[in-house]
Amino acid sequence: MEQAVEFASWVEVDLDAIAGNVAAVKGLLEPGVRLLAVVKADGYGHGLVPVARVAAARGAEMLGVTHPGDGAALRQAGIAIPVLVFRPLLPGEEDAAVKCGLTLSVGSLPQAERLSAAAGRIGRQAMVHLEIETGMGRTGFTPEALRGALDKLLTLPGLQMEGIYTHFAAASGDPDFTKRQFRLFNSLVEELRERGVRIPLRHVCNSAATLLYPELHLEMVRVGNLLYSRLPAGIKEHDLPEGLRLKDPWSFWTRVVHLQPVRRGDTVGYGRTHRIARDTVLAVLPVGYGDGFGLNVTPRPAGWIDLLKVLAKTAGSFFGLPLGIRHVSINGRTVPILGRVGMELTCVDVGKLPAVSVGTPVRLPGRRTAIKASVPRVYVAGKERHLADQVEINSRNALDNGEIR
Ligand SMILES: *Cc1c(COP(=O)(O)O)cnc(C)c1O
Repeated sequence: MEQAVEFASWVEVDLDAIAGNVAAVKGLLEPGVRLLAVVKADGYGHGLVPVARVAAARGAEMLGVTHPGDGAALRQAGIAIPVLVFRPLLPGEEDAAVKCGLTLSVGSLPQAERLSAAAGRIGRQAMVHLEIETGMGRTGFTPEALRGALDKLLTLPGLQMEGIYTHFAAASGDPDFTKRQFRLFNSLVEELRERGVRIPLRHVCNSAATLLYPELHLEMVRVGNLLYSRLPAGIKEHDLPEGLRLKDPWSFWTRVVHLQPVRRGDTVGYGRTHRIARDTVLAVLPVGYGDGFGLNVTPRPAGWIDLLKVLAKTAGSFFGLPLGIRHVSINGRTVPILGRVGMELTCVDVGKLPAVSVGTPVRLPGRRTAIKASVPRVYVAGKERHLADQVEINSRNALDNGEIR
């Protein structure tokens, strides 16, 4: 398996860490509460199929994806547990989705009608979760819209109403709004009950709400971030329940391809934004923004204080202070990136590090969902290394041997 790591740049994914995180999250749930493992965005950058396989093997009852194509890919890989597709289907996507046995979110009457027609054509029930819009401002029936559509909805053949859910817009940041969203959802569910419509699976919690509102776990929670040991925005270490141990499965690596002595006064890279202050040695790394490395994500400031911070950082960078990702790590030591990150090459200063040579591995920081899928993923499971297509075989074997439960 050694050849699996012979890449210039690669992402290493520790599947045992993900397995442990799935078990740890399950440990937060009362018995009987189901876990939907969210594996959208290529398993948050860790790889759709390998992550899904581990989550299913460790007891996740359902998987969640945004796009129906990802659901189809899971089926093609032989993963049989229920898969909920979050986004509305485009007209024409229904047949394939029903054929794959995906569970589909429905948030409008026309969607429901198209799905019902597809179920009829294919001769198979479509599993449906009603999505309720309570404040996310994106998709789903508003409570009024559902009230208006209900009679028609209930007459449509071929739809099995298995679930009903809503999505919180600010689960960690805005408790009042979150409770408001839940009240809207809950009173609608009550109303449905009174009309004799019983939907077995209610779910509202993402990672942040799963941590903060155990009383809202209902029949199922939808957890993404925590499975990858990412803390949701607004959640701090001390918000984590005592005893919840999460392990980071992700590391991003490259290797030194060249060492270049530079002299005081030289400049580095495009735009000549960095001038060398004293003689040193540059290490050139074969990675850049073309791989998704060093991209600064600057969302709209969330308030005045945030705006001041962004302005201060931008001004600081003009005067030479670092902005965004500016360091990498070599042999456990932090070294600065010099100049702009290029499309496929980046320079770091290794003048103070003795034992660096061509081929030395370099650990990179990076926003994991931004790192392109074209960067190879290497999977570590039971101390062995695999490529994605080998993981499949391995975790099947592990399942057969009873190693993964
Ligand atoms: C992404 C997503 C989640 C998971 O959110 P995390 O914060 O990663 O746990 C849950 N539900 C829906 C509908 C989502 O799109």
